[in-house]
This record gives sequence, C-alpha cells and structure tokens, in this order.
Amino acid sequence: MKSRMFISAIFALFTILQSFATTQVIAHRGYWDTEGSAQNSIRSLVKADSIGCYGCEFDVWITNDDVLVVNHNNDIDGLIIEKGNSKKLLKCKLPNGEFLPTLDEYLNVAKGLKVNLVLELKPHKSLERENLAVDKIIEMVKEKGLEARTCYITFSANAYKRFVAKSDLPSYFLTAVSPEKLDEMGGDGPDYHMNHYRKNPDWIETFRAKGQPMNVWTVNKTSDIQWCLDHNIDFITTNDPELTQKMIKEYVRPQNLRVMSYNLRFGQLATADSIAAEIARENPDFVALQEVDVNTQRANAPIQNGVNMVNRIAEKTGMFVHYGRTLNFAGGLYGIAILSKHPCTEFKCYELPNPKNVEPRCMILGTFALNGKQKINFACTHLDYKAKETRELQAQYILGKLAESKLPTIIGGDFNATPNEPAIHLFNEKMADVSHDAKTYPAHEPNIKIDYLFVSPDRCFEVKAKTTRPSLEKNNSDHLAIITDLLFFPDKMEASKSLVK
Ligand code: MG
Repeated sequence: MKSRMFISAIFALFTILQSFATTQVIAHRGYWDTEGSAQNSIRSLVKADSIGCYGCEFDVWITNDDVLVVNHNNDIDGLIIEKGNSKKLLKCKLPNGEFLPTLDEYLNVAKGLKVNLVLELKPHKSLERENLAVDKIIEMVKEKGLEARTCYITFSANAYKRFVAKSDLPSYFLTAVSPEKLDEMGGDGPDYHMNHYRKNPDWIETFRAKGQPMNVWTVNKTSDIQWCLDHNIDFITTNDPELTQKMIKEYVRPQNLRVMSYNLRFGQLATADSIAAEIARENPDFVALQEVDVNTQRANAPIQNGVNMVNRIAEKTGMFVHYGRTLNFAGGLYGIAILSKHPCTEFKCYELPNPKNVEPRCMILGTFALNGKQKINFACTHLDYKAKETRELQAQYILGKLAESKLPTIIGGDFNATPNEPAIHLFNEKMADVSHDAKTYPAHEPNIKIDYLFVSPDRCFEVKAKTTRPSLEKNNSDHLAIITDLLFFPDKMEASKSLVK
C-alpha cells in the first residue's frame, strides 16, 4: 500500500512528465555512439546531458561483495558480475578506456548535471541478491539527493514489485503486460518495446486515459521514430538521441479540423441569431455558408429585413467572416461566406462562368493560418442551379483556380449537383469527397445530395467522422448542414506538386 507521501511524490512527477507537449528523448545506455564514449560509461552520461536529453538510461548490477556497478551485460572481460568481486571487476575497462564505473561514481557525476536518470536494475540469478541491489539503490539515490531526477525500470517482476513497495520514486516495468495486469502489479506505467504498442494500439489509449506516461525502447530508425511521434508516445529511448531530437523539433503534429457547409436559405426560416447558435454548438474550424443576405428587404424573409446576416453570425459565433457578394438584391447584398476560427492571410473572390447569363455565382477562397502558423486554403461556392453544363464549366473553372495554389485545400458548398453529375465527377477526379453521402435537400425530407466537402491532396487528410447535421434543427433552413471531422497532416504536403490525389 502506498503511503500518502508516496502518492504525492508520484503525482508531482506525473505533473512534470505530463507538462511536456512533445515527446522527450532518453539516451539508451547513455549517449554512447559518439566519439570517446561507450555504453554505460560516465562519458555517455555527460554526453547525454550535454545535448539536452530528457533522460539517460543505464544498467546496474550488484557484485558478490555488494558493490553496485554500471554495465549492460552480465559479464565484463569474461567475469560474471553477479559472482565477481569488485576488486577484480573494477580493474576492467570499457571500450573507451574508462574503468567499469560503480553506481556511486556514476551518481556523483550525475549530481553536477541536469539530465534525469532512468536506472535499470538487471534481473539477477539470485532473488536475494536482487533484493539487496534494490535496497542499496534506493538508499544511494536518496543519499545523493537525486530522488527528484530518478526513476526505476526493470524486466524483473520481483525487483519491480520491490521498487514499487519500498521506494517513493516512479517505477516502470520493461516486460510488456496488459494495462490491467500492470495495474495489479502497481507502479507507474509501461516502458515497453515498440512492437507491443504497435500490436496493441488500444493499450496506448488506455495508458493515456490513465495518465500513465509511456516510454518505448529501443527506437533508432526514422520510420519508427515517426511512428512514435504520430502516436504521441511520451518518451523515446534511443541509441540515436540527436536524430530523435532533430525529428521531434521538425515534427508537425496532425491537427483536428472540423469543417462544415451550410446553405442558409437567406434566413427565411430562422433568425440569424438562431442560425449562429446552431453553428456555434457544432464548434467548427471552418464553415462554408451559402445564400447569405446583407441588409436586404425581402418580402418573403421579413425576420431578416435590414439584418446584416454575415456580421451578425460572425458576432454571435465569435468567428472571423469573409463575404463574397454575387448580387445586389432587395436593397442589400446576396452571396456566400466563409466563417473561420483561424485568421485569414489572403482572400479572393472569383466570378464563375455564366454562359447562359443567369444568376451570377462565385467562389471565395481564403488562405488561413492554423494556430497562426500552418497555411491552408478553405473555399466556398454555390453553383448554378439551372443547367448541368453550366455547373460543369464552373467546376472546371474552380478546380483550375484551386490548382494554382500548392497549399492543402478544402472546399465546401451547395453544388446544386447530385453525385452522378459531370461537375461532381470532375471534383472527384481532382479532390477527395469527405462529406457524408446522405441526402441533404430538402431538409424536412431529404431526397437528393447536393452539398459537399472536398479536400486535396487526400494524403494530408484523414476522415475521422462525417455527418449531416445530427444536432441541428431541420427547420432553420431548407438544406441540412454537412459536417466532417478531419485529421490534417501538414507535413504530408511536402511531396505534393499540385492539386492531385
Ligand atoms: Mg537498459
């Protein structure tokens, strides 16, 4: 049973561990793969500290005369450490010329450094000797004043349980067991080989939900480091700490984006406040709005007379708004708009081809800086509703304009076209449809799908969920809103040349 002090110490360390937004690096057996260093040498500890590693992992044995030494293998120069006497063992040299270090020497140097200590006790043949090693380690770490910077790891279930029972410091188990089994054993979390996390992705979620920091070993290849970053593993134990640090620094984390398209029927059926409340409830990042009136005096929409819908919705949702007028109408303006949580750095309005000289249409295209940084295009349109030939021309024109940018792009809108029309085929050739295939119009009894969300390139986007407005009232417009939750991978854009799948 853990004491109150034990729990508060663990809590304090968890707070520290979890405060890191990014993955941290632990040098496996120190930073040894560099000039003048060697595995588990004092030099490797100093090197790990010098490049700013979060932690330095090292291995500990106890000799037959009760001296704790730092080494990976169970032997050195043919002498079995567990059976050997320290007088003889400490004359053995590491490949870099250092003598086999004692834990006492190792920790004395660590006292003058900043790096955290990930102390592994190797499994001993004698459980009695192993227990003695645990007790002596706990005592020495305390005596050196290194408790705030040390945690214990081991493959031995016996040693693990003893660390958990006798120490206030965090202990992590190296032998992969399920989260439930680990709970039974006590301690503070997993420190598993990467394959176990890969084979059991549900474990990752479980450990994360429990607030247990995840450490993984031994990760050296770029593809494996990338996997750990994509899965938000907390700590990477590696033989190549500099490569891992570089990849962490350059890594761009995938971002959740909720995108939406909604034809408002110029507010005939609901007030701008009611529509804004609907949108705000969905908490989208971007919304493509169609049929948006500004200060009109329509006889068939008296509740909207004189209302600047676009400003009102922006004010009520707290989002940025960008408007594209298509018509002067009924004393005001009629058009489309983009709502965004993210600031716009560039905005354009394109008039669409109109060969039959009917109602003018446009596409509005904004470039937005996600979190003030990563740029992405979001566009909105509302295609002609009379002739599919016109819609096809408009689709060609829009795709041509979107292809001029190398940025990842999302477009939403009322395309006035069902999925089998040429205009939609054109979009499907160049972009990926991420909208739900449910029918969207008319809202009270939908019988056709004419509202869409497309993305490009599709490798930058993963669809997490898509829906047709499950929580919004059907009587606020004659269209259903469409909503898609995307995971956006900005770093996958690099290979892209243009608007291609
Ligand atoms: Mg080790």
